[in-house]
Amino acid sequence: MTKFKTLEVYCKCDNKLFKYLKGGNGRLIKLQKPRIKEDYTKKLLEKYELNTEITCPFCEKRIATVKVIGGKYVYKLNQGQIYIN
Ligand SMILES: [Zn+2]
Repeated sequence: MTKFKTLEVYCKCDNKLFKYLKGGNGRLIKLQKPRIKEDYTKKLLEKYELNTEITCPFCEKRIATVKVIGGKYVYKLNQGQIYIN
């Protein structure tokens, strides 16, 4: 059975970006929209075209890019710009 835990994800500018319900033990690489539990950016629950860059609303740096993986739209995270608390 998959174990889920809630992660709080921050931008490098120290503002909270979102809460995410993550399954499994691996690193957080991409986001599936239904698992985003709180969206402090007010951007992540919108509809986007492929390759749209999502920026932090506080510092304007790129936090994720819209990709299609396994036929589903996901956010591929910019690992250099985020951290998990
Ligand atoms: Zn930021």
